[in-house]
Amino acid sequence: MRNRGRILIRGVVQGVGFRPFVYARATELGIRGTVRNTGSQVEIDAWGGRFPAFLEAVSRGPPMARIDSVQVEPLDGNPPPGFAILQSTGGALSGLIPPEIATCRDCTGDIFDPGGRYNGYWATSCVNCGPRYSIIRDLPYDRERTSMAEFPMCPSCAAEYSDPSCRRHHAQTIACPACGPQISLRDAAGTLLPSPDPVGEAARLLDGGRILAIRGIGGFHVACIEESAGELKRRLGRTEQPFAVMVTPGELERIACVSSSDRQWLESPVRPILVLPKRDPDTLSPVSNLHTIGCMLPYAPLHHLLFARLSHPLLIMTSANHPGYPMVTDTDEAVEKLAGHVDFFLTHNRRIVNRCDDSVIRDGFIIRLSRGIAPKRTRIDLGGQCILGVGPELNSNITVYTGGFAVTSPHIGHVRNPPTLTYLQETVERTGRFLGASCDVIAHDLHPQFLSTRFARELAAATGAALVPVQHHRAHVAAVTTDPCIGITIDGVGYGDDGHVWGGEVFLGRVPDLDRVAHLEEHPMPGGDMATRFPERMLYGILPTEKTRSLLAGRGWDDIALGVLERQVERSVAVAWTSSTGRVLDAVAAMLGTCREKTYDGEPAMRLESLAARGTAREWPLEYGTRDGCRTLSTRALIRLAFREFTRSTDPPLPDREKALADIAASFQHNLARGIAALAVDAAREHGIPTIVLSGGVAYNRAIRDTIRVEVENAGLTLLMNPEYPLGDGCISFGQCVWAGTTAR
Ligand SMILES: [Zn+2]
Ligand SMILES: [Zn+2]
Repeated sequence: MRNRGRILIRGVVQGVGFRPFVYARATELGIRGTVRNTGSQVEIDAWGGRFPAFLEAVSRGPPMARIDSVQVEPLDGNPPPGFAILQSTGGALSGLIPPEIATCRDCTGDIFDPGGRYNGYWATSCVNCGPRYSIIRDLPYDRERTSMAEFPMCPSCAAEYSDPSCRRHHAQTIACPACGPQISLRDAAGTLLPSPDPVGEAARLLDGGRILAIRGIGGFHVACIEESAGELKRRLGRTEQPFAVMVTPGELERIACVSSSDRQWLESPVRPILVLPKRDPDTLSPVSNLHTIGCMLPYAPLHHLLFARLSHPLLIMTSANHPGYPMVTDTDEAVEKLAGHVDFFLTHNRRIVNRCDDSVIRDGFIIRLSRGIAPKRTRIDLGGQCILGVGPELNSNITVYTGGFAVTSPHIGHVRNPPTLTYLQETVERTGRFLGASCDVIAHDLHPQFLSTRFARELAAATGAALVPVQHHRAHVAAVTTDPCIGITIDGVGYGDDGHVWGGEVFLGRVPDLDRVAHLEEHPMPGGDMATRFPERMLYGILPTEKTRSLLAGRGWDDIALGVLERQVERSVAVAWTSSTGRVLDAVAAMLGTCREKTYDGEPAMRLESLAARGTAREWPLEYGTRDGCRTLSTRALIRLAFREFTRSTDPPLPDREKALADIAASFQHNLARGIAALAVDAAREHGIPTIVLSGGVAYNRAIRDTIRVEVENAGLTLLMNPEYPLGDGCISFGQCVWAGTTAR
């Protein structure tokens, strides 16, 4: 039996309390030796009779570690008298950027311990929890390379830091009221309001209905109680967009249906926002007018302290930035940008180096890959070169591949405005620096006009990197598998090979060799992007009939506007052509009067889904066609059937018209999904391929996803999705990297 060895552990082993964890196991098992971080790995020299048990224990690592490999080498020499943690040394870094970790149970106990020195302290943390990526300037992860460097430890903190028996042994974020960052309350103009108890005062203001900007881990939230939702919407100009809420565990049970897997996510160290079905869809409508609500539990000591003082069990917590823009991180910037929007600021003086929005999860699928999950690291072999994927345009992030790992940044936003483009550039620079990577290949979207595409070209020109354009929906498939498959991608918009707007696609083959074999019928989008904002235009584009015309006329469209719309469709002027799944769902939402104007991303389809959740689906006949060698599903035929049902429910109005509309919405989604699945299943059978991949933002729709799954599985085939990356466009940068990596082989 071996009784000594040098153990080398690779993976995410920094910022997760690895060395103290090893120390504790060594002490328990009477192991002598040392442990140190060498940048890319943890190196443990160990001697002792219980070496095998020690090896087994350290191979599992502490809860937040991600271990890629454990190697044991022979060890000569004599053991030191005890076990010691040695200083970190620099070295090659390979994707070892730790994400944020929600406050652990022990630290929560500390902040509510009446006699303890952390009592009431807003920035309490330990080796197992606290900010990480958001405060890291450089690696290896040590205090002097974080924004905690500005706060020298007091003697008590220094004592805990160097005490091997303490949970804060080598905790880089250790801080207390005496030495650590401080919280303050400021008025709307940013003027400090001296208070012995800023958090208690903030709770009192929130309870009184005031709107506060709160500086958290990765940026500013705007917070208020439910009763102030209307005022918040008015001030932010976001009249329809649902807000996320932070709630106590008891309140969570009261307002939402929480499955056991949802609960695991909610209580995990990530503490994301979970999109959950409301218990009663008619409640909380000022917060969310959908059948779902985004909920999170308190995840930072500040949140725990606030909720302990609040009499309300629910706070609206929405990002202070405009949707799609970068999070606001600096206090001065917040005061400037939120002027007129908030009454007070609850802020602190710990610099946020890297922004991090809240991550969002629905049904186990990641909607927004950010705080606590990103930087996300995936082990994958894409060869010896370094690859950068700059992402698409909307809901973007970036991925850098080097040395067997792909690292995806937190959510960046809509790269269609200068601040978000700047944020993208900064993230590329920073991630490259953290990983010690300079890119040989830059993968970007096929769309020639995207800001991200232009950025990729400029960067390639400056660095000599090779460019690899990747079609949007093929990147979706590449983010799921590189094995032979049939790939379904259903989403809003992506630039196709033919310059048309794709978004309801079926591919056949193997990355990077995927043929488009089927798609949704193409329709004109009258007025281009205008048809996205006003989905009644899309309805007319799909079904340009007298009946549609009179429906729109009845809703206040005047003859001139209708005349223009008719001519656009008739003569195919000022139209883009699209096979988008999202646009078809939008058109039905418009027909049913559910959503006539899109005020936030995905709104018409999301409201249609909420309506459909109350309805019962019936099977409708499906019609197929062919175009340029591809099979197509006739969405016009489906819309025509929906219109017929709609007319029947309206003329004369049925007694239970709401239910009738809900049934139409449910039936439409069901039959659309059935048709899409059939296109894929037929292709799979024809080519003898057992696996069907599903990706794209429409796959978040539970009814549509479930229908596709049932159809695929009933055909004896396997449905493959990637729960590690968003189904929406947050997977594109990763998919671009995979595509470029497999292309180069
Ligand atoms: Zn802790
Ligand atoms: Zn201290």
